[in-house]
Amino acid sequence: MLRAPGWKQLTTLVILGMAVLFTGCSRDSGPASDTAGAATPAEAARSTPRVVVNDKAIADETRVSDWLAYGGTHYERRYSLLQDIDTANVAGLAPDWYLDLPRDVGLVSTPLVVDGVMYFTGTMNVVRAVDAVTGELKWEYDPEVGQALAGKRSVGFVHNRGISFYEGKVFAATFDGRLIAIDAGTGEAIWSTRTFPKDSALYITGAPKAFKGKVLIGNGGTESGPSRGFVTAYDADTGEEAWKFYIVPGNPADGFENDAMAMAAGTWRGEWWRHGGGGNAWHGFTYDPDLDVLYIGTGNGSPWNRRVRSPGGGDNLFLCSIVALDPDTGEYVWHYQTTPGETWDYNSNMDIVLADLEIDGKTLKAILHAPKNGFFYVIDRTTGKLVSAEPFADVTWATHVDTETGRPVEAEGVRYADGTAFITPGPWGAHSWHAMSYNPGTGLAYIPALHMTFGFNDQDIDHASFQSVAFQGGLGVNLVWTDDQPRPYPASLIAWDPVRQEKAWEIPQDSFWSSGTLTTAGQLVFQGRADGKLLAYDARSGEVLWTFDAGLGISAPPITYSLGGRQYVAVLVGFGGGYSALGGAGAASHGWAYRRQMRRLIAFSLDGGADVPAQPAPLAPQPVKAPEFVVDETLAAEGAVLYDLGKYDGQCRYCHGFAVMSGGAAPDLRASTVVLDRESFTRVVRDGTLTANGMPGFEELTERELESIRHYIRQQAEAGLASQD
Ligand code: CA
Repeated sequence: MLRAPGWKQLTTLVILGMAVLFTGCSRDSGPASDTAGAATPAEAARSTPRVVVNDKAIADETRVSDWLAYGGTHYERRYSLLQDIDTANVAGLAPDWYLDLPRDVGLVSTPLVVDGVMYFTGTMNVVRAVDAVTGELKWEYDPEVGQALAGKRSVGFVHNRGISFYEGKVFAATFDGRLIAIDAGTGEAIWSTRTFPKDSALYITGAPKAFKGKVLIGNGGTESGPSRGFVTAYDADTGEEAWKFYIVPGNPADGFENDAMAMAAGTWRGEWWRHGGGGNAWHGFTYDPDLDVLYIGTGNGSPWNRRVRSPGGGDNLFLCSIVALDPDTGEYVWHYQTTPGETWDYNSNMDIVLADLEIDGKTLKAILHAPKNGFFYVIDRTTGKLVSAEPFADVTWATHVDTETGRPVEAEGVRYADGTAFITPGPWGAHSWHAMSYNPGTGLAYIPALHMTFGFNDQDIDHASFQSVAFQGGLGVNLVWTDDQPRPYPASLIAWDPVRQEKAWEIPQDSFWSSGTLTTAGQLVFQGRADGKLLAYDARSGEVLWTFDAGLGISAPPITYSLGGRQYVAVLVGFGGGYSALGGAGAASHGWAYRRQMRRLIAFSLDGGADVPAQPAPLAPQPVKAPEFVVDETLAAEGAVLYDLGKYDGQCRYCHGFAVMSGGAAPDLRASTVVLDRESFTRVVRDGTLTANGMPGFEELTERELESIRHYIRQQAEAGLASQD
């Protein structure tokens, strides 16, 4: 049993990549793909009637020329009626154009396509518009996140999952907490507003949600310190705040904001407000155009351990729930809690997919939801009542969900009151933010599933005195790795029948942290994998029909659109997200080293003829040899604590990887020559000379602490070199 003390903040916490310049990108398109005689796709695309992107358009699944919203349409199905590319011809799919993004690192976002223009957000929240037929860059908007973070010195993911579009504006939310409206035509900012105070330990990695003339955004930060989650809606035209909804109650002495908070407070014990409570909504917003309701997926508790957060128990509403709100006022409508009294980071921030299911001869207006806790939920969205829930992956924390009460029946001992409890899923969840898609034709949902067991214990933690600290965090529980994992493979693609609540097919995957899925009326499912392959599957059987080797891990979900009579499938290539930063040896094993492989956007078609340059081969970072550097083991031991657990406003491993092994989110410091020179190291780490690039300065670090970190890095470098002998 290996204790992993560094795993303090796992999935949603803060990381920030380093040395990310973001002053441009190069563009290279393949050979001209025009067809002699006929109108070129570009010409034909220009004759497509312009769309006013309002709720009617965003709800229109027949508008296949565009991809107007994060999940394709308001229904969030990531399903397209396009069937030019189908099971019979997908083998001929080839790159049509590509755009190199040499300054980017992790790419996890869903591009949008509006009127022949593709919009997407890249590393450090840089937003770009490109011609969706040629790949030509039209404009680029850089919100200068590195500068905005200076002084705050928060460390966090350099990744962002998407943008929103409404009536001529692109909406982007930045890591440092700004919501920005950008003119879609010019790329100029129209308005910008702060969604939380600049010095807050909150952050944003998610996509805003535009609906009914408003834009909604939440935040992450459940693990970054005492945090009380909330979502805010702003007027899309002006940026004025329209309404705000807190997810958990505050101190009753201050009064409750609304009846929902008063009701929720009855499910908490002790002085929960000292800990914030959590529930942060960092992902999972759906507007229901049929019922005119907004659904929010909510986060886990802050801190994780309920015995610390709410001594004496309680469901702790509205943690780990879907909360339905009035889209005009933000008033509470109903909630369904997937994990009452959660204590394992089983947040419910995953996609909220709308589907009409035929069950017992009736049409059910359903929500499909597959949160971290491993159950697949079908919920009646007219009432918020549970219809059914079955495990789609290995689940040991609960025996089943009681459909009468709507509540899970927990297995014995899972709350780790009597020592380490090994539980499946682990804190990465059985499904994270990687999008699930739903195909009404096959009636199947396609889930990028994760399989991992972790141990939890809190024996050495004093529940009464435990207090997390802003930017440093603290979970109130220890995590314990085990080699006894549930399956011989860490991930799989699962096709799930929500009506029967059973698996239709499953494809095991050797690599962890693959992309979300796209499904089409061409009976296809597309998914990018952490191993760099983009695949097309037969949506009915799971048979692999096409594979493209992008030469770099894919974490972003593919989209599809049609312009000029040509169907395109597009995807951002660039291993990213929490696992690429925190995954340590596992993430590093792919060989997607920082700045080694070209990050890029690729669009495919059946007529594609672009020659995408080959990528450098995967290469695990090579520690630099420095025999003159003699490691002081005492210093290295001190440095290990600082590197992995932190002391001031961050921890090195959030970007540079657990045990100094980088998954590509930031440089692998074992290979760095900066580390060899005390003065250079001090300039970067303490003085913050690379702040603009994403590396904050940590001015409180003492000389000894700086030295200890250096010695720890070199200790790990020497260990890496020794293992190669
Ligand atoms: Ca979490």
